[in-house]
Amino acid sequence: MSSPDLPAMALPDTSNSDRQAVRLSFDNTYAKLPERFYARVNPTPVAAPRLVKLNLELARSLKLDPHALASEQGVQILAGNRIAEGSEPLALAYAGHQFGYFVPQLGDGRANLLGELMGPDGVRYDIQLKGSGPTPFSRRGDGRAALGPVLREYIVSEAMAALGVPTTRALAAVTTGERVFRETVLPGAVLTRVATSHLRVGTFQYFAAQGDTEATRSLADYAIARHYPQAAARKRPYRALLDGVITRQAHLVAQWMLFGFIHGVMNTDNTSISGETIDYGPCAFMEAYEPDKVFSSIDHQGRYAYSNQPRAALWNLTRLAETLLPILESEEGSESTAITSANEALAAFDLMFAAARAAGLRRKLGLFTELEGDAALVEDLMQRMATNGADFTLTFRRLCDAVAGPQGDEEVRSQFADGGAYDSWAAQWRRRLGKEPVSAEARATAMRLANPAYIPRNHVVEEALDAAVERRDFQPFEDLLKILSHPYEERPGLERYVTPASPEECVRQTFCGT
Ligand code: AMP
Ligand code: MG
Repeated sequence: MSSPDLPAMALPDTSNSDRQAVRLSFDNTYAKLPERFYARVNPTPVAAPRLVKLNLELARSLKLDPHALASEQGVQILAGNRIAEGSEPLALAYAGHQFGYFVPQLGDGRANLLGELMGPDGVRYDIQLKGSGPTPFSRRGDGRAALGPVLREYIVSEAMAALGVPTTRALAAVTTGERVFRETVLPGAVLTRVATSHLRVGTFQYFAAQGDTEATRSLADYAIARHYPQAAARKRPYRALLDGVITRQAHLVAQWMLFGFIHGVMNTDNTSISGETIDYGPCAFMEAYEPDKVFSSIDHQGRYAYSNQPRAALWNLTRLAETLLPILESEEGSESTAITSANEALAAFDLMFAAARAAGLRRKLGLFTELEGDAALVEDLMQRMATNGADFTLTFRRLCDAVAGPQGDEEVRSQFADGGAYDSWAAQWRRRLGKEPVSAEARATAMRLANPAYIPRNHVVEEALDAAVERRDFQPFEDLLKILSHPYEERPGLERYVTPASPEECVRQTFCGT
C-alpha cells in the first residue's frame, strides 16, 4: 500500500530537523500503580510509517517541538517503531458494560499509553497511541486501526475541542504502510491521542468485579489526586470523588445535547472519569432535529439515541457508584449508609443536567436572565423544530441574525417545513427579548458564541475521509480541520460547510469501523 503524498501545509519543514532529538519529558504515574492495573507491552512496529498530520497548535501547547515530532525519529515514535526515552508503554486494564452487558475484561486491545507529560498549564496528560498493535487485551482483534476511523476521530475530537467541549485531543496521525482487514482491505494508521487520563468507569468495574477492594481504593486515590484534588481534603473523599464525576458528566452530556452531538457508544468503558468525551466511534452531529435520532449501525435498540444520552450517562454513573460502595462504606460507617450516600450523589445528576442544559439553551436563544416561562419557550421551539425538520445547528445560528429584527427571519423560517410554525414562535421570543434591556448587537454577539456556524457535518466528514482513503488526497481533511478550528466565526465562501446535506448527500448511518 503506497503512502500518500503529503500536502505541504500540513507539516512543518523538517529538511534540517533529522538531527533534532525528540524530547518528551515523560513523568509516569500510572506505571507506578500495582502490576494488575496494566500490561507492560510495547507497540508493534509497522512497515512504513508516514506522518499525515501533526497538530502543531496542540504540540506547542504541550511544549513539544513540532519539528522534532515531524522528523524521521519523531515519526518512528508516533508509529510505535521506536520507544522514546522515558516512555514506559502500557496497555491499561479495564472492564465495561457494552450495550448493557458486562464484560469483565476489555482493556486496551489496540492502544499503548506511552507515558504522561506535565503541560505548561500544570495539567498531566496521557500520550497514547491508538492502533499500535496487539496487547494481552486484544481478544480476537488485530490491535490495529484503519485510516478512515483514525482521521474521523482526529476531525471530530478537534472539532469538539474548538467548540469548547471537554474531550481527548488528537496530536498526530500516521499511516503504517500496512493493510488492515475489515469488511474490505483498508490502509492502516495510528492516532496519537492526548487525554487528561484514560481512567474510565470500566477501570473501576474491572477491580470491583474481582472483589479487589484494595485496587479499587488505590484507583480512587489515584483519580482523586489526578482529577479531583480538592476531594482529598474533604471529610468523605470517595463521596466527593463520586460527586465530582457526576457533576462533570452531567455538564458534559448537557454540552453534547446543546450541539446536537450523539456519541453513539456510551458504554461504561467509554465513560471517562475526568469528564472528557472519549472514544469517537460511530458518533455524529445530527442535522434535522429529531429527539430520538440514532446514527450507529450497531445501536439497534436506540439505547444511545440523542434524547437517551442523559439517561445512559446516569446509568453508567450508577455502575460507578456500585464499584465505590466498599470504599464509601469505610467512610460512611456501614453498608446501608454507603448506599444512601451513593443514591444521594446520583440523585443530583438530573438536576445538574437540567440546569446546565437550560442555561445553555437560554444562551443559545440570547436570553441573559432567567424568567418564568423560559423553559416553555425553549421546549416549544424544539418541538416545532422536530415537527418541521429544522436543522439543529443552522436554526440556532440563523437566530443570531434574526435577533436584530424580522429582516433576519426568512433564513430561519426556511428551516421549517411550515414557516408559520416559526413565525408564531418568533413573536413570543421577541416579546421575551423585550423584557431585557440588552442591545440587539450585544445579544447577537453573545448568541454567535453559543451557536456554531460550523460543525463536522457527516457528509463533509465522509467526503474528507473518502478523499484520504481512496485517493490519498488529504486536502479536504486539512480544509475541514481548518474550518472547524474556528466554529463560531462565520466566513464568506464557506457556505457549503454551513449548509445541511442534500437528500442525496445525507449520511443516515455511521459505523464503528474498528
Ligand atoms: P471500543 O468499541 O473502541 O470502545 O473498543 C472496545 C474494546 O475493544 C476495547 O477493549 C478495545 O481495545 C477493543 N478493540 C477494538 N478494536 C480492536 C482491535 N482492532 N483489536 C483489538 N482490540 C480492539
Ligand atoms: Mg472504547
